[in-house]
Amino acid sequence: MMRKVSRLLVCLLVAFSLVGTGFLVTPADAAPKYRWKLAMTWPTNFPIFGDAVVKMADMVKEMSGGEMEIRIDSKNKHKAPFGVLDMVKAGQYEMGHSASYYWKGKDINTMPFTTMPFGMIAPEQYAWFYYGGGMELMREVYDKHGVYSFPGGNTSNQMGGWFQKEIKSLADLKGLKMRIPGFAGEVLSKLGVVVTNIPAGELYTALDRGTIDALEWVGPSLDLNMGFHKIAPNYYTGWHEPATELQFLVNQKKFDALPKHLQAIVETAMKFAAYDMYARSYNDSAVNWAKIEKEFPHIKIRTFPKEVIAAMKKVNNELLEATAAKDATFKKIYDSQKDYMKKVRKWTEISDYTYLKDNL
Ligand code: CA
Repeated sequence: MMRKVSRLLVCLLVAFSLVGTGFLVTPADAAPKYRWKLAMTWPTNFPIFGDAVVKMADMVKEMSGGEMEIRIDSKNKHKAPFGVLDMVKAGQYEMGHSASYYWKGKDINTMPFTTMPFGMIAPEQYAWFYYGGGMELMREVYDKHGVYSFPGGNTSNQMGGWFQKEIKSLADLKGLKMRIPGFAGEVLSKLGVVVTNIPAGELYTALDRGTIDALEWVGPSLDLNMGFHKIAPNYYTGWHEPATELQFLVNQKKFDALPKHLQAIVETAMKFAAYDMYARSYNDSAVNWAKIEKEFPHIKIRTFPKEVIAAMKKVNNELLEATAAKDATFKKIYDSQKDYMKKVRKWTEISDYTYLKDNL
């Protein structure tokens, strides 16, 4: 009897030691070994942004053969759309999906990893992230927070926003209440705009009730579904977010604790979902742009007057220089982006720009 029991124990021990070595296949219906939770800034079923997160999680599950699963909590569940970084930092969530420039109040150096006014367009920015030193700088900034930050999907060039009244001169910006995040918010605030940041789910009500006079959100891909055109018919072209990259956040300790193959799977899924969101955003913007032209002729497409753009550019440069003078890390990121843009823009000019200019 004793011998039988000890033989069974030996068998069990051998079986357990084989799990994970590839010799024993986990049954398809077995519970996943790694269950992670992700907090996103966006509301439940939010198109494009939320879809990118679902795509990433589905890929992780498929590619790991069910070994790893990621549960997604929207802001309706966790109630803290702008608390995602803190929750991932604290390990309350293993992952997050948000935008790096939402953390400007916590760490100014997180801002340049989303987009910069008058900065790079999406292909240039992806080149900077992956081959121009951007990822290394982003890792350096987020290391301090114990977080691994990863590009989380690009919206492509964003529209300048919805305004109830036309902006005819710089004077029209004075006292204007506008929702606009990131460095662009700092720029407009210097020009007299009263700047706020409001989460996506509350934007329509804020504009409708007059809490704000103007807002920028994304572009046709998402703006039309939000219904802003019903309240504010002046739709301005962009200057402030030429390539908005969202952000995956991963708690560094939890990531380090994953076996190597799952780390590779999570990274691959994030990279795929991010690029997929860029393609989707471009498509949906084109589809909705056609809709604007056909179905909503009352929407007035406008470009800010030259005087306004020139003032924005001037203030933007002054602010960047001043911030760089105060903070060595910010200077390093700013210099990297500035130098890279100089180089990459020459190529953009002779390739895409020349082609489009001559063939539109
Ligand atoms: Ca935006």
